[in-house]
Amino acid sequence: MAYLYQLYVVVDKPINDLQAEQMVDEMAEQAFSGNSFTEIVGAGISELDPAVCGKCCKCGAWTSDKDNPECVEGFSDGVFLDGKWWCDLCLPPEHPKRF
Ligand SMILES: [Zn+2]
Repeated sequence: MAYLYQLYVVVDKPINDLQAEQMVDEMAEQAFSGNSFTEIVGAGISELDPAVCGKCCKCGAWTSDKDNPECVEGFSDGVFLDGKWWCDLCLPPEHPKRF
């Protein structure tokens, strides 16, 4: 049996593609070198759209609205409410999406 693990990393500062690529290569080397059972088979970089994701205004966790087909995989579920992003753990208790 083999497994495909997906790892999501947010780089929360402006960097160019080359810097991002080098950062990912360094992280992968540190995390997966020294064994014969892991292999990196792909990687991708995409710019986060503030219209579909953001940091929770209360706890700072990255969140995206899972009801939106454009939502970001790997982020906690949340909503954009009153001009701010809220994760499902921090939403007001009366909100239907509150976890
Ligand atoms: Zn939160």
